[in-house]
Amino acid sequence: MINGIHHITALASDPQRNLDYYVGVLGLRLVKRTVNFDAPDVYHLYYGDEIGQPGTILTFFPFPDAVRGKHGIGEISAVAFQAPRGSLEFWVERLSRYGIHIDGPFRRFDDELIAFQDPDGMAIELVFSDSQSSYRHWSDSPVPAEFAIRRFHGATLQLGSRNETDDVLQETLKFRFTGQNDNRFRYLIGSNESEAAIDLLINPTLPRARQSAGSVHHIAWRVTNEASQQQWRERLIGVGMHPTEMLDRQYFQSVYFREPGGVLFEIATDSPGFAIDEQVEKLGTELKLPPWLEPERLKLERILPPIDLKNTCLVG
Ligand code: ZN
Repeated sequence: MINGIHHITALASDPQRNLDYYVGVLGLRLVKRTVNFDAPDVYHLYYGDEIGQPGTILTFFPFPDAVRGKHGIGEISAVAFQAPRGSLEFWVERLSRYGIHIDGPFRRFDDELIAFQDPDGMAIELVFSDSQSSYRHWSDSPVPAEFAIRRFHGATLQLGSRNETDDVLQETLKFRFTGQNDNRFRYLIGSNESEAAIDLLINPTLPRARQSAGSVHHIAWRVTNEASQQQWRERLIGVGMHPTEMLDRQYFQSVYFREPGGVLFEIATDSPGFAIDEQVEKLGTELKLPPWLEPERLKLERILPPIDLKNTCLVG
């Protein structure tokens, strides 16, 4: 069974600016400071709630000199967070104070939301609702607990056509189609506190997206453990898809596959989680490397641009 979203990973440019925005402005916690395991001269920054729970984790590969990506079809065109219903005014005031342009508030299905962009042009939506959540507030967040972002509400996939992706979502992955609003088709996955809303936005006339800074790289669906992940992998092969081998991401195990509309999906395990190599109180404060990259630590520390969490925490 897929229990909603595990994490979403995107591309960015300047890592310090990324940190200042997601921690200093949006109030997420940096829960892991590591490197891209496939290209270790680039950071991999993980943001989430206090303890880094699946369903709260947004991660970035910041390439300092990257140009902006081109938005279009075959990509995740918006990442939606959920915040408490009564926090709309707080967020409009806060984002405006930082000079962030806000679209909305407007309604979509039963939700009230606002839309804005991060410094690299990634579309973010803030959905105001009182859904259940096991969210744990980070005590050093510049955003007070009563207004804080809880977890992902969902994400939008912008596609040229719907049918093949719909098949994968409903038939293979067991998403539940719940309704249509113009060219937007909504699906739910997971239940209760892990439920996520995934929208297919169909725009056949747009050009294909070109990924770079401000683009979402992939979305990971959440499963409990490796046995479940293995079953999903076999199921994907059984329907003619081409998942990767199971890859060790230190904090979870990963299998990747591309859905027919062009968006990269991952299936990631809840275990072992982000406390495997540092205490919860210390999450995100030091560069952590998996054992196989430890021999390269000195070299990587020279290559990676310095980033500073201290000033970021004072931004709020
Ligand atoms: Zn991932």
